[in-house]
Amino acid sequence: MEPVAGCARLEPPSLCVLASGSSGNCSVLRTPGSAILIDAGLSPRRTRLMLEELGLGLEALDGILLTHLDSDHFHSGWGRALPESVPVHLHHSHVRQARSRGVSRRSCVGFGEVAEIAGDYCVFASLNAHDELGTASFRFEFTTGASLGFATDIGSITDALIEHLGGVDVLAVESNYCPRMQIESDRPAFLKQRVMGGSGHLSNQECARLVAEVRPRGHVVLLHLSRQCNDPALAARAHARQPYRLTITSQFEPTPWIEIVGAGGASVAPAAPRAVVRGSLFDHMVGGPTEPPR
Ligand SMILES: [Zn+2]
Repeated sequence: MEPVAGCARLEPPSLCVLASGSSGNCSVLRTPGSAILIDAGLSPRRTRLMLEELGLGLEALDGILLTHLDSDHFHSGWGRALPESVPVHLHHSHVRQARSRGVSRRSCVGFGEVAEIAGDYCVFASLNAHDELGTASFRFEFTTGASLGFATDIGSITDALIEHLGGVDVLAVESNYCPRMQIESDRPAFLKQRVMGGSGHLSNQECARLVAEVRPRGHVVLLHLSRQCNDPALAARAHARQPYRLTITSQFEPTPWIEIVGAGGASVAPAAPRAVVRGSLFDHMVGGPTEPPR
């Protein structure tokens, strides 16, 4: 794609989580030579507007990479709104579902263990248990030598997942719920079971356990916090006094650009285009070192 304003010089790969949560998940991964979406759970209109705010155009994207096709990761509007020029990269086991959701055969690009998307990184995929068809988690290895792990809706921790993500520089991972809030919620029993039963979501404690095993080298980004059954301060508490930086994503506000650099490098671009989680209780965590929750 064409370089955009502010990208003329070589900058590190960067991740911006536009939104994360059960009302829609969508992130942008940008390198000097490419830009893709990871998941497309926001409406096409909202996605286009948010991309424009970042100086990016929908048609200029190099692709959309899907973890899976639940509606909060692939909005129903995309079947009609997908530009012909933008391929949808998805696991082989999800292709049939995508076709039934209106994605043309031409747009679907299936992958197995490796997804070929852009020239300046490789994407390695691993399939995790989640509902019927599973979810793909990703390890991006950039030509800069840095790496990014991205794992959401992963249900449970497996040795294969730990090995897949091991030692990445930046780890974006779901921290979906507080078990106590989940159990005490007025949600129906089947939903609690779906979330907590090993093929739904990770709790805050499970997330922290996975992070401890993966040992990310610089930065952890918490994804997909439940609004009903979690709280950013509780999610942060599970990572207190850890050496990595912590960013907590939101359903309503994008994160700053999170630079994906090797350990010791700056983790958040100083030229972030806008403030992110404004006036909230996790101001102290976004873009700064982890502090014990207040
Ligand atoms: Zn989800």
